[in-house]
Amino acid sequence: VARSGGGAAQCLYEPGIDRVVEGQVAMQRDLRHAVERGELRLQYQPKLVADSGQLGGVEALLRWLHPTRGFVSPAEFIPVAERFGLIGELGQWVLDEACRQMRAWMDTGQEIPVAVNVSVHQLRQADLAERVQRSLAHHHVPARLLTLEITESVAMENLDTSLRMFDMLASLGVHLSIDDFGTGYSSLAYLRRLPATQLKIDRSFVRDLDDGTEGSRAIVQAVVHMAHALQLRVVAEGVETETQATHLRQLGCDELQGFLFARPMPPEALVAWQTERQARSADAGIREAVGR
Ligand code: C2E
Ligand code: MG
Ligand code: MG
Ligand code: MG
Repeated sequence: VARSGGGAAQCLYEPGIDRVVEGQVAMQRDLRHAVERGELRLQYQPKLVADSGQLGGVEALLRWLHPTRGFVSPAEFIPVAERFGLIGELGQWVLDEACRQMRAWMDTGQEIPVAVNVSVHQLRQADLAERVQRSLAHHHVPARLLTLEITESVAMENLDTSLRMFDMLASLGVHLSIDDFGTGYSSLAYLRRLPATQLKIDRSFVRDLDDGTEGSRAIVQAVVHMAHALQLRVVAEGVETETQATHLRQLGCDELQGFLFARPMPPEALVAWQTERQARSADAGIREAVGR
């Protein structure tokens, strides 16, 4: 939306739109300082291996702790960052922080694979692969522990340029994941050319499983079959109910992620969450062994 100088052009806009733009302008001003003021955080949401319940990895989700607004949702500030040219800096911070955290976990003897979300603007940076490699090298983290999640609609945009970037990234040894799958309009022929190793079924299809119809199961089933035929691991996002989880396991999803299992959490909480789970499963093992 262009800012008009007032006068006649003003009448073309809904009265609310200028206020939205003003809000975004105010937000971008604060966002410019967020990195240097240390207001950004990463929270980590587990992905569980569907059949064993083991931790398959975590997704890093960006949080902005604003001094007066409190936690601002990425759904609000990522679009602002993209619009005002700040996403490059934020994306770099996320990449670096995720690598730093993986290193910190490795130093305590834990290898936890981390997935970070990559925006369309980052994909347009010609040196993205170099940046990724530099972050990994700086923190001495093996590339195989890092996954880059790219939204389906973004991955399919400017396909030839994107494909070249994906190939460069994949040749570093990082994993590529197609996020929110089913919300874009993928050409299946192109999907085959993406050097991805993972596909995340969008939350909307997971939610539909609750309606108990054959149709909603059939869609998930078709996606799983197709993904497996292309050697992609399938992750279901936004799993909130036992019913959904049961269906998704039956339909052959490889990993499950959602509030049913865990919300995104700070890194310390993740370690506590895992320790507690391990203690519980050891307990269950002992009870089973003594036949109780
Ligand atoms: P996404 O990558 O598809 O992430 C999944 C979103 O769903 C997250 O919202 C997560 O908290 C939420 N979620 C997870 N499980 C459930 C569930 O069971 N039920 C429901 N209702 N929601 C669930 P969040 O953290 O608000 O992030 C929203 C979006 O913002 C992300 O969608 C991603 O596209 C973007 N985003 C987050 N962090 C970053 C980042 O570091 N860089 C970029 N470029 N984008 C980011
Ligand atoms: Mg994601
Ligand atoms: Mg997603
Ligand atoms: Mg989604």
